[in-house]
Amino acid sequence: MAPKRKARIIALANQKGGVAKTTSVASLGAAFAEAGKRVLLVDLDPQACLTFSLGVDPDTVEASVHDVLVGGADLADVVQTCADGVDLVPSSIELAGAEAVLLGRPAREYVLQSALDPVRRDYDVVLLDCSPSLGVLTLNALTAAQGVIVPMPCEMLSHRGVGQLLDTVADVKKILNKKLEVVGILPTLYDGRSTHAREVLEDVGERYGLPVLSPPIPKTVRFAEAPAVGRSILATARSSKGATAYREVAAGLLQRL
Ligand code: ADP
Ligand code: MG
Repeated sequence: MAPKRKARIIALANQKGGVAKTTSVASLGAAFAEAGKRVLLVDLDPQACLTFSLGVDPDTVEASVHDVLVGGADLADVVQTCADGVDLVPSSIELAGAEAVLLGRPAREYVLQSALDPVRRDYDVVLLDCSPSLGVLTLNALTAAQGVIVPMPCEMLSHRGVGQLLDTVADVKKILNKKLEVVGILPTLYDGRSTHAREVLEDVGERYGLPVLSPPIPKTVRFAEAPAVGRSILATARSSKGATAYREVAAGLLQRL
């Protein structure tokens, strides 16, 4: 039998908080799993929102991504299988100290890449949920990934920082990871009734010279309800507009990955 292909690794990054990075990782992950893919999600945010929203309690988790990045634990030993049919490398508050520890290490940007390497043939897709910063953890994500998706709400102020993120991506590509490409901007929290939102959506691709993933993810209250039960909106509101949009974006991505 031919050896299995290595997983595609995609980082969802934007140093602004509240742009739906975590929601998109959970929802796209569930959509890929529904499509029969083997999915690994990695929570790289000390706030551990992805971990919590997949039904794992970050306060009592035995081993987390912190143990992998700082303690040298095998990533496979930390993986948990979640109800949404995805595997998770959970985070914990301890990860807040990881930046400082890693800063003093040689090759500190390559720690996650090395940790993921042994499991890459066990998955089709790996999604990395970045924290709202451009620190060492996000550099690790961008170094391990082949692609980066930039979730961005369709509001003018959401542009702030995207240029800086793209500069960082360009630097990483030059110095740390030649394979890195921006897959595209993922428009989130989209209110189709707002003229302003529609104008921002029309302008954003040209402004940054990047593909815009489609369809935009509609703003709906369903997303706030899902994490409380430890499932993504694809399970809690199966045929809602939001779930349908994420499935369509996932299907489009699967054709390109
Ligand atoms: P980030 O990871 O970028 O900080 P989150 O995914 O945690 O962002 O989302 C921030 C907040 O916005 C959360 O409360 C989440 O439930 C909510 N949210 C995300 N996407 C949507 C959406 N499409 N409609 C309504 N609320 C959303
Ligand atoms: Mg988040």
